Amino acid sequence: MKITDLKTIRFKSQSCIQRDPIGHAHPGPAMDTVTTMYVIETDEGVCGYSVPDSYNVLNPGAAPQAWAGGDSGDKTANAVAAGSGAGFVEKRLKPILVGEDPFSREKIFNILYKMQRGGANSALTDPLLAHIDKALWDLYGRYANLPVYKLLGGHRDKVLCYASIQVGDHFKGGLSDPEDYAAFAKKCVEMGYPAVKLHTWADENWGGNNCIGKPSVDKDIACCKAVREAVGPNVELMLDCFHYYDRYDAYKLGKAIEDLGYIWYEEPMEEYNVSSYKWLKSKLNIPIIGPEVAKGKNFTRAEWIAGGVCDIARVGAGDVGGITPMVKTVHLCESFGIPLEVHSGGAASLHIMGMMTVPGRYYERGMLHPFLNYCCPPWLNRMIDPMDEHGFVQVPQLPGLGYDINWDYINENRL
Ligand code: MG
Repeated sequence: MKITDLKTIRFKSQSCIQRDPIGHAHPGPAMDTVTTMYVIETDEGVCGYSVPDSYNVLNPGAAPQAWAGGDSGDKTANAVAAGSGAGFVEKRLKPILVGEDPFSREKIFNILYKMQRGGANSALTDPLLAHIDKALWDLYGRYANLPVYKLLGGHRDKVLCYASIQVGDHFKGGLSDPEDYAAFAKKCVEMGYPAVKLHTWADENWGGNNCIGKPSVDKDIACCKAVREAVGPNVELMLDCFHYYDRYDAYKLGKAIEDLGYIWYEEPMEEYNVSSYKWLKSKLNIPIIGPEVAKGKNFTRAEWIAGGVCDIARVGAGDVGGITPMVKTVHLCESFGIPLEVHSGGAASLHIMGMMTVPGRYYERGMLHPFLNYCCPPWLNRMIDPMDEHGFVQVPQLPGLGYDINWDYINENRL
C-alpha cells in the first residue's frame, strides 16, 4: 500500500473558547472559526483522519467578556497550523509522505521529527506532527478493522477520569475566586467525577510591574483549601498552577497542598529549570509530575526520569508529536517503574491509556468551566469520551482512533 495524498479539510465551525496571553482556554463569546481535519489517502482506498475531538458550548445565560490582552477565537495549534501551515503541508510534507508505505510509521516519524531541527521547517510543530502521526495510526486501525489500543497491545477497555477545571478567570460565578472553585468542584463530584484537578490563576495584569503574570500564591492556597473542604477528604485532588513561580512560592504552595492531601503537583515552575524541580522534589512529599510542555519528546522525559526530577512522568500527543513518541514514553516509564499520567483528553490519550501496562491513574476530561457544557463536536456523530455514572470513560471501540465523522456537517461547512 502507498500513500497517495496528504491533505487538509477546512470547515466553518463555532467556538466559544478564547485564549489568554499564555494560551490558556477560557469561555468567550461564541464566534465563527475554522476547524481543520488532516487526511491521509492511499492507493487501496483506505484513509486515516485526525481532527480535534473535544468541544464546548456556552451554557444558557453565560455571557463571558473578551479577555483583556488575550485573543478571541480558538487560536489553538490546530487553527494556527491550518491558517499559516496549510501551504506547508501541501508543499513540504505531502511530497515526503506520498509514495511511502502508510504502515511505516516509525520511518515517517523519524523523517519528520528530524526535519524539525533548526528554523527552516518551523511550521512543523509537534501538534502538527501529532496530527499526521495520529492519521497514520487511524489509517492502520481502519485497515486492520481494530481500534488503535488493540493494535498497541490492548490492556483495558475503560479508564477512570478526572474533571479538569479550566484556568481561573475574572468571571463572577465562573472561576474568579476560591468560592467559585469550591462550588464547581463540588458540582463535578456530583456529576460523577471521582477526582478533580484545578488550574488556578495567572495574573490578568499581564506585563504589570511584578513577575510577569504572577498571581497570588496565597489566593491559590485559599482556593485549594476551599475545594478540599467542599469535596471532603475522599475525593482525589490535583493542582496545576501558574507555571512561573520561583522556588520560594512553589515550595510554599506545594507544602500547603501536600498538607491538604492533594495527590500531585503540576508545573509550578519553568520546566526547563530542571535544577529547581530537583530541589522542589527533595523538599516535598507530594508527587511532582512532569514535564508537560518542555520540548524534546521522549528524550526529555527520559532525562527527567533518569535525573530523578519527577515522581510521575507526563506525556501528551500534542506535546511530543503523536502516538508514536507516546508509546516510546510509555515503555520508558514501565522500564523505570515510574507512573505516567497522560496529558489532555482525546482519542490519542484514550488509546494510549488502553495499552499501558502500568496504567495512568486518570484520564484528563475537559476542560470544564461553570459557563460551559462539554459535549460532542458537531463534526463528529458521537463523543469520543462520554463518562459513565461510575466515572469511567470507554476506550473507543470503532476501528482506528474511533472518530465517527459527521460528513454531512463537514461538507455543508467546507471551505
Ligand atoms: Mg498541565
